[in-house]
Amino acid sequence: MKEITSTDFEKEVLKGGKVVVDFYSTECPPCEALAPKFESLASLFGSEAKFVKIFRQQNRDLADKLGVKSSPTVLFFEDGKEVGVRLSGGIRRHDLFEGMKALVGKEKVKEIKLQIKPETSQYDVAILGGGPGGLTAGLYLCQAKVNTVLIDVGLPGGNVSTTHMVSNYPGFIDPQPGYMLSHFMSEQTKQCGTSYKVAVDVTHVDLVNKKIVLDDYETIQARKIIIATGTSPNFLGVPGEKELKGNGISYCATCDAKYFGEKEVIVIGGGNSAIEEADFITKFASKVTIVHQFDKLQANKTAQEKAFANKKIGFMFEHEPRSFRKSGNSVIAEVEDLKTKLRKELVADGVFIFVGLKPNLSLFTDKLELDNWGYIKTDEDKRTNIEGVYAVGDVSSKKYRQITTAIADGTIAAISITKELD
Ligand SMILES: Cc1cc2nc3c(=O)[nH]c(=O)nc-3n(C[C@H](O)[C@H](O)[C@H](O)COP(=O)(O)OP(=O)(O)OC[C@H]3O[C@@H](n4cnc5c(N)ncnc54)[C@H](O)[C@@H]3O)c2cc1C
Repeated sequence: MKEITSTDFEKEVLKGGKVVVDFYSTECPPCEALAPKFESLASLFGSEAKFVKIFRQQNRDLADKLGVKSSPTVLFFEDGKEVGVRLSGGIRRHDLFEGMKALVGKEKVKEIKLQIKPETSQYDVAILGGGPGGLTAGLYLCQAKVNTVLIDVGLPGGNVSTTHMVSNYPGFIDPQPGYMLSHFMSEQTKQCGTSYKVAVDVTHVDLVNKKIVLDDYETIQARKIIIATGTSPNFLGVPGEKELKGNGISYCATCDAKYFGEKEVIVIGGGNSAIEEADFITKFASKVTIVHQFDKLQANKTAQEKAFANKKIGFMFEHEPRSFRKSGNSVIAEVEDLKTKLRKELVADGVFIFVGLKPNLSLFTDKLELDNWGYIKTDEDKRTNIEGVYAVGDVSSKKYRQITTAIADGTIAAISITKELD
C-alpha cells in the first residue's frame, strides 16, 4: 500500500488514472477497522486501479481543499476527477465494492468478487454485538486468555455511543458523553487482545454448528457464541425523525428526561412504556403532551389512572405525527387529526417516541426460545436453549434494560463460558 503526501497528490492521484484514496488518522477506531478491508481491496483490484493512503493530520490543507471532514474518508478518482460516492465512518466491505463499481464497472466488480477465496478462522468464543454486554464479555474472556472475536455490524459501542450523556454509570462523578464511555469500553476490550471484526455484514449465522459468515466469504467457527445484539427502537418512519434522533428526539426517558427540566415535551405512543415514561418525564418537564393514534390508551389501567390524574399531562387522541423539524432549540411536530385529516404544528422542547423496541434477532434462523415479548430466554448463567449459545444484554429476556444490567450479563456469560472451556 503506497502512502503519499499532498506533494505527490497531483502526480499520483490527479494524473494517476484510476485511483482510490484513503484519508486516515491515528487513534481512529473506524480507520483501524477499515485498514484490513482497504488492503484486501487493493490486492483484489490492484491490476485495475491504484490504491493510496494519505495521513490526514499531516496533510490537513489538502484534506480541507478536498472537503474531507472526517477520518476515514475514501475517495475514488478517475483521470483527475472524483467519481462515485465518498465513503466515511464505519465503512463496510460492501460499501467499498459499491464504490469500485463507479471506477471499474459493475461487471468487473462481479468478476473480481468471484475470485475471492473463502477463509475460515477458529475461535473459542464469537460475540455478536459490541455494545456494553458484548464488550464486557469480550473483556472478561480476553483476561481469562480465551481466544475471542467480537463482531459488530456497526462500530463498537452499541446504544451507548448514541446517548448524549450518561449519568448513571458508576465510577464517574460527572455525567459522561455516551460516545466517550463506549470508546473507553471498546478500547479496554480491544487492547486486552480480543479480535475485532467490525462494520461487517453478518451474512449468515448457524447457531447450532457455531458458524458465522461475514461479508459472504469469511467464516468464523467458534466453540461458543454469545448473542449481544441489543435492541433497536421502533421508528415512526416519518420525515425528520432520524435526523433529529439525539438532537431533540429521544427514545429513552430514563436517559434524557432530566435534560428537560421545566420544559415542554411531546410523547408519542399510548402503550405501557409511553404512559409510564410520560409520567416519569413530568418529574422534570413542566408539560407533557401525549400524542396517540387511537381514541383511548393501550396502557394498563393503573398507568392510565396515574396519567389522567397527573396535571402536567395532556392528551391528543386520534392524532399521528407526520414530520419533525427543528426551529432554533425547539422541535416542531406536524401532527394529523385522523378524523378530520387536518394537520397542525406542535412546538415543544423535545419529543420522546415510545412505539416499542425490537430485539435485533432477524439474523437468527435457529429456534431460539423467546419470551412473550420476543426476547431470548436464558438461564441464570445466560445460556439459551441452544447448546453453547448465550445471550446477554438488552436482547435477552429481563425486566430492566440499562448499561449496568448489560455489563452484568456479559460478565456472567464470560465467567460461565471460561469455566466450561476449562
Ligand atoms: C437513546 C438511548 C439512551 C440510553 N441512555 C442510557 C443511560 O443513560 N443509562 C443506561 O444505563 N442505559 C441507557 N440506555 C440503555 C443502554 O444503552 C442499553 O441498555 C445498553 O446499551 C444495552 O447494551 P447491549 O450490549 O445489550 O446492546 P446495545 O448497546 O444495543 O448494542 C448492541 C450492538 O449489537 C450490534 N448488532 C446488532 N445486530 C447485530 C448483528 N446481527 N450482528 C452483530 N452485531 C449486531 C449493534 O450494532 C450494537 O453495537 C439508553 C438507550 C438508548 C437507546
